[in-house]
Amino acid sequence: MYDPKSSRAEEFIDHQEILDTLAYADRNKNNAALIDEVMQKAKEQKGLGHREASLLLACALEDRNEELQALSRKIKRAYYGNRVVMFAPLYLSNYCVNGCLYCPYHLQNKSIPRRRLSQAEIVREVTALQDMGHKRLALEAGEHPLHSPIEYILESIETIYGIRHKNGAIRRVNVNIAGTTVENYRRLRDAGIGTYILFQETYHRESYEALHPSGPKSDYAYHTEAMDRAMRGGIDDVGLGVLFGLERCRYEFAALLMHAEHLEAVFGVGPHTISVPRVKPADGVDPGAFAGGVGDEAFAKLIACIRVAVPYTGMIISTRESAAMRARALELGVSQISGASKTSVGGYADNAPCADNAQLHEGTEQFEISDDRSLDELVHWLMELGYIPSFCTACYREGRTGDRFMQLLKAGQIQNCCHPNALMTLQEYLLDYAAPATRVRGEALIARELTHIPNEKAREFTQRCLEKIRGGERDFRI
Ligand code: SAM
Repeated sequence: MYDPKSSRAEEFIDHQEILDTLAYADRNKNNAALIDEVMQKAKEQKGLGHREASLLLACALEDRNEELQALSRKIKRAYYGNRVVMFAPLYLSNYCVNGCLYCPYHLQNKSIPRRRLSQAEIVREVTALQDMGHKRLALEAGEHPLHSPIEYILESIETIYGIRHKNGAIRRVNVNIAGTTVENYRRLRDAGIGTYILFQETYHRESYEALHPSGPKSDYAYHTEAMDRAMRGGIDDVGLGVLFGLERCRYEFAALLMHAEHLEAVFGVGPHTISVPRVKPADGVDPGAFAGGVGDEAFAKLIACIRVAVPYTGMIISTRESAAMRARALELGVSQISGASKTSVGGYADNAPCADNAQLHEGTEQFEISDDRSLDELVHWLMELGYIPSFCTACYREGRTGDRFMQLLKAGQIQNCCHPNALMTLQEYLLDYAAPATRVRGEALIARELTHIPNEKAREFTQRCLEKIRGGERDFRI
């Protein structure tokens, strides 16, 4: 029986409830009166339930679909302004004991070289990332009890936070590792992680079991209940995601929202972020082999529907997507993007003159990327599109996690808080890492955007901090 408050995966992601939701959406996809009613509720900008949002996703009326996209743009602007938060993934290890059929790191793949970064190699990787201007990382690792136990992850986090190189610093480490125990989540919390990210891959139990034939990850319930354990371990910010392309998109969408409703019902706070990765070609992996391919149009609509359904939740898109798709996703609802990413183990430092590390990462990529621009190109491009690239990490460092972050959003204080922080961190980037043309454009943007801080005190504070940053000081925040 469907029960969002249950701690059991099969009850909060109830298969029958999803099927009923999809049937309801199918029956009503041309029902203009009902769609208008849901759209009216969506316009209040407080979100929608999984049934209502599934109806919008199924909607077959062209004019209503246009209205939906316009609304998602409006909500995106209202909640996130024109800021875009930047991050990079850091692959620590590709040793893995799981059998995930869509991932080349699976145990049965004997052709892929296996690598695990030593702490010295992590220093080189992070230094290279700092030299680009990154301040926020997402740690990635395969699941392996010997090569990447929790102690290795914890030691790596400590190493990363400790690295100081010129004006560089990684100020927020998010972690994307396999589901683990409450005790291990507590240790991750104590290590000072930002968001704990775990993709569900697919919520469809039968498909999940077929796609994960072996290894600890094959346990659907343990994987699906991981966020509950993370929150019980004291991690306030969790990031959900589906690997789109494996299963039918509408099934995943309804289930993803049910997962968010479950977290809200049990812990009083929904997911901090939702990621929208699509499955990509990889060593031995053909995305065409899976049942749920999502074309670009359907993908854009999906992003718009997530934005409208959960306005408070940040949305992340990676370099799996092309520049054109990312531009569209940013308009419709995405608030965070990765930049200059390498999906190989050791891929960043190999580009630096460092002979003994040369080429070791080759062949270790997890999947192909579609946006291989440098961070500076990306920053420049975002500004051309009218966005403020933000390297802000303030909320989590100020203790604004979980419901405290949501309160900030709901109180409409984002423009007095996130906006100044975005400008201050962009100023650091421009001085420390930007190409001359990027700097010129960025300085003009900061001057213009400063006037958009509504609160006078916040505006004056920001102005003073910007002057101090130009004078050589770093790391100011509201
Ligand atoms: N090992 C961890 C786990 O099992 O959850 C997570 C780390 S894994 C490096 C990060 C994510 O990459 C996976 O959750 C999966 O969704 C995604 N991924 C794996 N293979 C992929 C592919 N071929 N294309 C796109 N994304 C892929």
